[in-house]
Amino acid sequence: MANWNDHVDHVLIDEAELREIVSRLAAQIDSDYSGEDKNPILVGVLKGSVTFMTDLMRAMKCPAQIDFMRVSSYGNSTVASGNVNIILDLNRPNLPNEDIIVVEDIVDSGRTLKYLVSYLLNKGARSVRTVTLLDKPERREVDFTPEYIGKEIPNAFVIGYGLDYAEKYRTLPYVGVIRSDKI
Ligand code: 5GP
Repeated sequence: MANWNDHVDHVLIDEAELREIVSRLAAQIDSDYSGEDKNPILVGVLKGSVTFMTDLMRAMKCPAQIDFMRVSSYGNSTVASGNVNIILDLNRPNLPNEDIIVVEDIVDSGRTLKYLVSYLLNKGARSVRTVTLLDKPERREVDFTPEYIGKEIPNAFVIGYGLDYAEKYRTLPYVGVIRSDKI
């Protein structure tokens, strides 16, 4: 049986650190959305955010709904080209009353989240914030800063905890740097 752990050069964030990051982000969101009328919708960006989102939503105390969007960006597997295309949209009639928190696995150029924030605001959402597990600020190509950032990481291609390379490795329970000979 293939062992995906062998395709990892080194572990960047282990399971204990991931739990700490998720609890800190959940506490920050709880404190910002503590008002009576503040019941945000967590909108996960499929598929990479799934693991992070399911941990985050269980760590939060504030009542939240969940939903998902899916986008595709054209480019090869490790470099996004910057064109964002929505392939699964929200289907909600009452967006003007909603406070949305877009949940992302990693911010790289910043194009995906910058686009999604303006898209959802244009659709009429009352407020849109973003939470990302990982951020690679060195790679930024547009002016964008998420409100909630789990951890800044250096410019390396990471896999695991939902993040893939060519659809593989999402099931690994930690975030690791992929071996260069596997790309
Ligand atoms: P951005 O629009 O910020 O350039 O790209 C964000 C998306 O690129 C992420 O949602 C993710 O799909 C992909 N991405 C960027 N860096 C990495 C990485 O190191 N590993 C993986 N697996 N995906 C990445």
